[in-house]
Amino acid sequence: MSPIVAIFVAGALLLLHLWWRRRFAKSERELVVQKKLTQQLESERYAITAQKRAEQEALFNSMVEGVLLLAPDGRIQLANCALEKMFDLRTDIRGKTILEAFRLHELNEFLTRLEKKETVIAAEIDLPGLEKRCFQVNATAVLDSDKTRQGTILVFHDLTRLKELENTRQEFVANVSHELRTPLSLIKGYAETLIHGAKDNPEVALRFLQTIDKHADRLTYLIDDLLTISRLESGQIQLKLQTTSPRAVAARVIEDLSLRATGKEVRLQNQIPELTANADPQRIQQVLFNLIDNAIKYGKTGGTVVVDGHLNDKGMIEISVQDDGPGIPEDAAQRIFERFYRVDKGRAREQGGTGLGLSIVKHIIHCHGGTVWLKSLPGEGTTFFFTLPAQPSIGLADVSVTRT
Ligand code: ADP
Repeated sequence: MSPIVAIFVAGALLLLHLWWRRRFAKSERELVVQKKLTQQLESERYAITAQKRAEQEALFNSMVEGVLLLAPDGRIQLANCALEKMFDLRTDIRGKTILEAFRLHELNEFLTRLEKKETVIAAEIDLPGLEKRCFQVNATAVLDSDKTRQGTILVFHDLTRLKELENTRQEFVANVSHELRTPLSLIKGYAETLIHGAKDNPEVALRFLQTIDKHADRLTYLIDDLLTISRLESGQIQLKLQTTSPRAVAARVIEDLSLRATGKEVRLQNQIPELTANADPQRIQQVLFNLIDNAIKYGKTGGTVVVDGHLNDKGMIEISVQDDGPGIPEDAAQRIFERFYRVDKGRAREQGGTGLGLSIVKHIIHCHGGTVWLKSLPGEGTTFFFTLPAQPSIGLADVSVTRT
């Protein structure tokens, strides 16, 4: 090859090389730009998904109901805060199956029912354990636009409190019916016996009429107490708060009950010093009446009932009603303020009690912002205590405030 041709070929090769490098550099630049764009798009998509997920989680966590989201393979994807609280979950249950996380076969079987359905299914599930708890569970499949199942969503609603209220209501209705039926059937029985002949014997007739009268009174007391309880519970009773002397109120009650006390040879002592409470005197009279009446009824014949009081270290007026009767056993003392609870059912009814007296006491004292409790030693007697807000001594001029 001649040198000229050689130079020409070398020049051509150099030009080709330079052209290739430029072209390559250009496509490399394009590639970098494209890669950057893709990365940007991906991170934007990721950010949108993350934001969506965060929004979803925030929504789920703000719900009162427990929410559980299952993946198509049945493993837990998400459990909201309410659900963690409901089931007292201390570990992360994500990735576990329902059975692994909750050990509830009932819940697992409930989910198998969903596999054949597209609608929402519901069930009530009881949690085993010491504290009886009950949940309503609603479940539905999460489907995409092609109707392909993407998972399952479960919503848990805690029914425990509602069930408790329903049981209390049913128990209350059953108790009221029973309490009403007993005197009514006695009244009817005595009236029928009178009609069928007893009326002709004046002595028997008088005795039967007295019994009818006693049970009619019992019905009246029961209805009065029921109305008081229901008005107290629904907040319909308005307290007429004013400067009140517990000593004066106790004196009135003792006078009203003196006949009953004499009948059982019970001595009533009012040892309350001159104190002033901020209370509704009529309602406090009802409280002291119920407590002193019980002390006479359930205390011993020939015993002593002492009513006392002082200003305690919390600045509240503390009143006590003490008897020297048979006392109240420890287990009964826990339930004594419940409606219709009686230690000795037969004896309490015989004494004409409604079973609502202490429940009324508790409500009235709580409405005043006070507390009520008792101390009892079986065989030695019982002392009931209650507290009332003290009224700074500004004389006995009435300061009326109304509180519902
Ligand atoms: P009741 O109308 O039956 O007296 P209460 O609510 O006033 O209803 O009292 C509930 C039960 O508590 C009574 O039936 C009685 O068994 C018991 N009890 C109340 N006070 C005393 C007391 N001072 N000593 C012994 N038992 C009492």
